[in-house]
Amino acid sequence: MTAAQDSARALFSALTGYEPDGLWSAPGRVNLIGEHTDYNEGFVLPFAIPHRTVAAVGTRDDGRIRVASTFADDAVEVGLDELVSLFPTRTGSQPAVPEWAAYPLGVAWALQLAGASGHGVDIAIASDVPVGAGLSSSAAIEGATASALNDLWDAGLDRVALARVGRRAENEAVGAPTGIMDQMASMLGEPDEAIFLDCRSLEAQTVPVGAAASGLAILVMDTRVKHAHSTGGYGERRASCEKGAAVMGVSSLRDVSVADLPRAEELMDDVTFRRVRHIVTENQRVLDTVRVLREQGARAIGELLIASHASMRDDFEISVPELDTAVEAALAAGAIGARMTGGGFGGAAIALIEQSAVDAVSAAVEDAFAQAGFGAPHLFTVVPAAGAHRDA
Ligand code: ADP
Ligand code: MG
Repeated sequence: MTAAQDSARALFSALTGYEPDGLWSAPGRVNLIGEHTDYNEGFVLPFAIPHRTVAAVGTRDDGRIRVASTFADDAVEVGLDELVSLFPTRTGSQPAVPEWAAYPLGVAWALQLAGASGHGVDIAIASDVPVGAGLSSSAAIEGATASALNDLWDAGLDRVALARVGRRAENEAVGAPTGIMDQMASMLGEPDEAIFLDCRSLEAQTVPVGAAASGLAILVMDTRVKHAHSTGGYGERRASCEKGAAVMGVSSLRDVSVADLPRAEELMDDVTFRRVRHIVTENQRVLDTVRVLREQGARAIGELLIASHASMRDDFEISVPELDTAVEAALAAGAIGARMTGGGFGGAAIALIEQSAVDAVSAAVEDAFAQAGFGAPHLFTVVPAAGAHRDA
């Protein structure tokens, strides 16, 4: 039993006085490369991490759904037939239930929209995925809930359909306008593999990362600066991308290539152009990273990671000083590559480093944070791990 499994089970018993039918879990994710490309119908290369969110779920003999989390003081209970009147939530406004509860309740609602139905359920959630750190605790809670209800309601949806359910919950029940990457990574993760995803077709291929076999480690540097997806910069960046695509006369920036950039620069204002340039070059970097991983291995992708960070910092302007400090300190201490990961405005960065250098790079990053007067970062290594499944 992991700590999260124990906590979910204990919370379930305390809440209901009976034992759950089972435990389901889904992981957080790190994005190796391909940031903000998902909602532009482009390419991403995330992998699931060992940190998981666990849902202990039991069936009830009425038609109500109750959700509880170690993260929140109070459980929330509604009728399954009331979900349709609670959601959707208008983008940018607050859901009609506490925000955290809109994730699991939104999943139940989105499953109903996908044709699923069943008896009432009690759901108790616990997690060891850092929340709001850019490691997608949101996809993890969605994936754990969706997997449980898919099984208990006999809905028969496949993993891609469950990823869509999670995304719909996040977009339309929580009101956060995020793309499909996180849910796909959390549903499709495989040990030692990254998920190369075409966000237009939702076609996914696994790509071996092989970091451990090459003597490398992937260090996550959580700055502990919390980001918020449902507000502010994320929505603005999406709007800039839509504007850039409209100016170029295409439905999404997926259809703009590096060769089109000089024309884009002539047609649009400087800010919109830089947003577009990030997406277009980032898509190319994902394709290059997949090729280099397959042909040469992880040791050869460092420059692509470094270029991706620079593009997010300078063109897309979604980095913060803590993320830049983490990346610079890791590189100065010998990292092969490093970049912020996730939506930005806080959260985490990753560094690809020699296994033998984990302690030295960690110490260098901690020193740099102390020197800059930042709060201590949370540092840990990850390996690509399995996607959502039933645990017990
Ligand atoms: P990230 O996905 O990077 O962690 P998000 O803002 O997308 O950050 O999602 C974090 C939100 O998801 C939390 O504020 C909370 O509302 C919800 N959430 C995530 N994990 C849990 C959990 N274990 N219990 C309850 N709510 C959770
Ligand atoms: Mg999230």
